[in-house]
This record gives sequence, C-alpha cells and structure tokens, in this order.
Amino acid sequence: MKITKIETFQVPPRWLFLRMETDEGLVGWGEPIVEGRADSVAAAVAEMADYLIGEDASRIEDHWQVLTKGGFYRGGPVFASAVAGIDQALWDIKGKALDVPVYELLGGAVRDKVRMYTWIHGDSPEALADATRTALGAGFNAVKFCPATKVAPMDTAASIRSMVNNLAAVRGAGGDELDIALDFHGRFTPAMSRRVLPLMEEFLPMFVEEATLPELSADLGLIAQATSIPLATGERLYSRWDFRSVLGCGVSVVQPDLSHAGGISEVRRIAAMAETYGALLAPHCPLGPIALAASVQVDVASPNFLIQEQSRGVEYTDGPDLFDYLADPQVFNMDTGYIERPAAPGLGVVIDEERVRFEARTPHQWRNSIWRQSDNSFLEW
Ligand SMILES: [Mg+2]
Repeated sequence: MKITKIETFQVPPRWLFLRMETDEGLVGWGEPIVEGRADSVAAAVAEMADYLIGEDASRIEDHWQVLTKGGFYRGGPVFASAVAGIDQALWDIKGKALDVPVYELLGGAVRDKVRMYTWIHGDSPEALADATRTALGAGFNAVKFCPATKVAPMDTAASIRSMVNNLAAVRGAGGDELDIALDFHGRFTPAMSRRVLPLMEEFLPMFVEEATLPELSADLGLIAQATSIPLATGERLYSRWDFRSVLGCGVSVVQPDLSHAGGISEVRRIAAMAETYGALLAPHCPLGPIALAASVQVDVASPNFLIQEQSRGVEYTDGPDLFDYLADPQVFNMDTGYIERPAAPGLGVVIDEERVRFEARTPHQWRNSIWRQSDNSFLEW
C-alpha cells in the first residue's frame, strides 16, 4: 500500500489538518500544528512529503526514524509537529487497513473510558467559583485554570495572595471530590514557584503545570524539593530525549502533545519511559479533533494514563469548534466527564472533509497574544 498524496489544510480556529491518501483508496488524517506557526509546519510537511510519496504506508516506525533523523538536523517544535501529524495519519491508515482502532495495535485497551478535564476561566474568586459550578454541571470532575494571568516573573505579595485566594475559591465551590489542576504557563521564575506553591498545598491541587519555562527545566528539581504539589510539564518538549531530563528532576506528570511530540509512536514511548519513574501521562491537547482522537487512542492503551486535556469551549475565535469537523461528534461526548473508548477503526473519528475543504479556503492567521509589563517590557503569555 503506497502513499500517493499528502495535503494540508489550514483551518480555523488555529489548526492544520493533514490528509494522506494511498493507492488502495484508504485515507488517513493527522494534525501537524504548532499554534501560531501553521505555515512553518505546513512547509516542513511538504518537504517531508517528498520522501514519503511512493513509500509503503505500513512502515510507520521506519518512516518515523527517517523523518526524525534523516534530515540530519532534528528536534524542535516545527519538525517534531510535522512528523507528529504524518505519524497520526499513518496509524489512522494502518488501523483502517486492519479494521481495528489504533489502541488494538498498541496492545489493546487497558481502560473503557478516558477521563477528561475542562478549562475554567475567571479574573476573580467569584468568577472562578461560578466557572467551577458550571464545569461540575456539565459533568466534569476535574478542572484546570491559571491562578494568575498577567503576572511578573517575581510578583508582589498582593499578586501571590490573589492567586491563593483564586485557588481557595475553586476548591470551595467544587469541594474535595473535584480535581483541580493549576497551569502556571511558564510565567514564574523558579524562585517565584518555590514561594507560591507551598502556600497552595493546603488546597491539594492535582498537579501544577509548567511551574517554570521549559528552558529552565534543569531547575524543576529545586521546585520539586520545595513543594508536595506534583509537578507536570511537557507541552513544549518534543521527544523522549527532551523528557529524559525532566523525569530525572522529579516531574510526576508528563504532558506530551500528540501533535508536537512526534505523534502516537513517540508519545507511546514517552508514556512508557515515564512509567519507569512512577510518573503519569496527561496529554496536552488544546487542539483540534484529530489531535484529540490520537490522544484518546494512546490514553486507552496506556496503563499510567491520568487525565486528558481537550479544547471544547476554549475561545480563540468565533469560528468552528472541536466538534464541527466531525461527521459523528458523538464519539467525543463528554457529558459524564469521560469519553467512551472509541470503537471505529484507525483514529476512531470520521472527518467531515467537505467542511475541512470549505474552511481551508480562508486560512486563519492565528498568533499568540504578545503581553507587556507596565514598563513595556516583554511578558510571558
Ligand atoms: Mg499548559
């Protein structure tokens, strides 16, 4: 079964979809995207397609090795995300060719449903408490939020107390049955995290994500020693080699993104490596339906899976949402706070190709917000 065609579609709100066709008529879908750098990833996919056209679609691992290492220069978000989207499409095709979901090819299901969390937002304790009640009403038993938005790398006592009060409000509204994840978004210096996290311990958050920037990962060990709150990181790490050092620092939850960290092939291996450190898997996924579908396949097959992110209701634009590119959105029904183990072959979703082609006629220009401090210097988003 030879690969005959690879196309990419830049679709709103900020995604890039990949469609791979074979000479036997089977089609696979992937989502190779770096948010805000869709054109760069599309260019990388086009370069990699030169090699793939005419190749055997069943040789997923061999293609992964060649695409990751055969260009001599390797690593980083653009290359790893291009490989990720291609890898997802290859697994989709293989599953469809064998008429099984991808998780059957990863050793079979180790769970029957996948626990999801939802984002909550609010700029005051009251707003966050309201958002918590809304999430509970929608069926979720886990939420994530940033306790502060624009925060200086080393902020004031008032800022620190406001963050603690925000967390207290979420715990108060949700009770102890609710799992609360914190996302610091790499906004804090290691010193700031070491100061803030112990003040938050009494509220027993599930984990804290990106307690400092990925380029400061060597300091995660110091932060881990300063707090009992489990550390999570990984949305800006791109391979098992990137994860090796953070696991050694005492990270408890790994968060590779199925569309950034080399796809299903590599995230499966990152999960297994995390297991040797007693760390759990919580894939990052503020992305589209194909990335989520790939995540769910790995979650179903991974013994150390903890919880899954998803982008429903995350407002980037007024455009299409997570469900709008699916012919059967029910596969992502999360009314119970869980997604049921998918039954359909491949990635388990049917993409509405007509909608994808229609939306791609007006490509998005999504970019990250650029934040500045009061003195007009750059501030982490
Ligand atoms: Mg994050």
